[in-house]
Amino acid sequence: MSLPIVSIIGRPNVGKSTLFNRILRRRMAVVDPVAGVTRDRHDAVANWNGREFVLVDTGGLVDQSEEEMQRHITIQSQLAMEQSDLVIFLVDGKTGSHPEDAAIAERIRRARKPVVLVVNKIDEAQDEPNVYDFARLGLPDPIGISALGGRVIGDLLDRIIENIPDIEAETEPDRLKIAIVGRPNVGKSSLVNRLLGEPRMIVTDIPGTTRDSIDTPLEFEGQRYTLIDTAGLRKKARVEDHIEYYTTLRTTRAINRADIVCLLLDASQELSVQDFRIADAAIEAGTGLLFVVNKWDLIEKDTDTAGAYVHDLQDRARTIAWAPVVFISAKSGQRAAKVLSMAQEIQAQRLRHITTPELSRTILVDIERKPPPATKGRFIKINFVTQSADPPPTFIFFCNHPDLVGETYERFIANRLREHFGFEGVPIRLRFRKKGR
Ligand code: GDP
Ligand code: GDP
Repeated sequence: MSLPIVSIIGRPNVGKSTLFNRILRRRMAVVDPVAGVTRDRHDAVANWNGREFVLVDTGGLVDQSEEEMQRHITIQSQLAMEQSDLVIFLVDGKTGSHPEDAAIAERIRRARKPVVLVVNKIDEAQDEPNVYDFARLGLPDPIGISALGGRVIGDLLDRIIENIPDIEAETEPDRLKIAIVGRPNVGKSSLVNRLLGEPRMIVTDIPGTTRDSIDTPLEFEGQRYTLIDTAGLRKKARVEDHIEYYTTLRTTRAINRADIVCLLLDASQELSVQDFRIADAAIEAGTGLLFVVNKWDLIEKDTDTAGAYVHDLQDRARTIAWAPVVFISAKSGQRAAKVLSMAQEIQAQRLRHITTPELSRTILVDIERKPPPATKGRFIKINFVTQSADPPPTFIFFCNHPDLVGETYERFIANRLREHFGFEGVPIRLRFRKKGR
């Protein structure tokens, strides 16, 4: 299911980034981020009362050179409007209404986009009258908040949730959802077409089209799949750098709907940071991850070309050495169907549940043998571990000082869990809680 997109638009300095960070504050930490990828994030999945949406900070997309600013803001707010399900139009309650606000409001009205007009920097109840200054913008029901102080944020989130489409849970749990993602021209469409052309493949339905990716249900060797394909949809927007951004956003959305992410790489090209960003998004979303090295037909091979490629890949991203790699040619069809069987295997790992006694016999013993180093003069004692019910595999460790368990030690535990249980192709999450509950 596609998550709704909510974009924050408005003039510079009204507090867009502050609001973005405020809304995302309660996000969970994720183990296994890909090393070396520093993310300058403009979007993230937000959650309020169990409802999720992708929140976009358009301010982060604008480069700060003065004369370009005006043009950028126009482009950004226009694009945000085209691409979003809901627009948060943020204005500055301290400076009051600005002519540019009126211009943005006019564009929103013309686009007939659902909008929430939010007056920021209403830091105290006595600033509330400033909200009415914006009634002249002609947009319904402005709401006054303080992004910095956290005032009225809950009400704002309620308003957001009321105004975005309610997306129901996926109703076909037995269908494995595979996102085919990767940079432009790696061969996503070719792979999808190849899979659909496999002789034993039954395409069970007319492809359903969502707004930003194509879902194709198919059946192969008795298994049911949905391919989520983001290819071919990138030519819509007008301005190059901005297209790139929304392409990424679509990829993120596809990933968030998937069980397994097949990250396509082009064997004839160097790995890029963009590839690792996509891997990172998969880890964050808790999907399985399979590296699919395409165009293998273009590579001159000797006995260990594949081994060397895997080695280089794992070297560049040690924290995802658990993700399997398959070498294919979408063009010749070589091993293309293997993508599906490997996705099945990864899903089996992703749904695997280790019982509490089994964890006690294995990982707890490892922990006893090599306990976490004392930190700040305190000894850390982990006495109990259990796996939570939902994928991806998440292990909850009960512990006297959960905050003091360091990253190095977490990595040790994650590695030991993999040595005991495999979990090939799936991210593992660790949580540390105070014992007693
Ligand atoms: P952006 O350019 O729209 O992303 O704005 P920023 O989030 O960078 O904020 C611009 C300035 O406004 C910063 O100095 C913030 O600290 C300040 N600011 C943001 N929200 C509030 C608020 O609720 N109250 C007050 N008083 N200042 C705020
Ligand atoms: P997308 O942008 O990721 O959907 O990539 P396409 O499927 O459109 O493929 C981009 C280009 O790479 C096209 O010219 C394809 O013919 C070519 N291509 C795709 N897969 C292969 C492959 O396995 N081998 C070779 N040699 N070319 C391929």
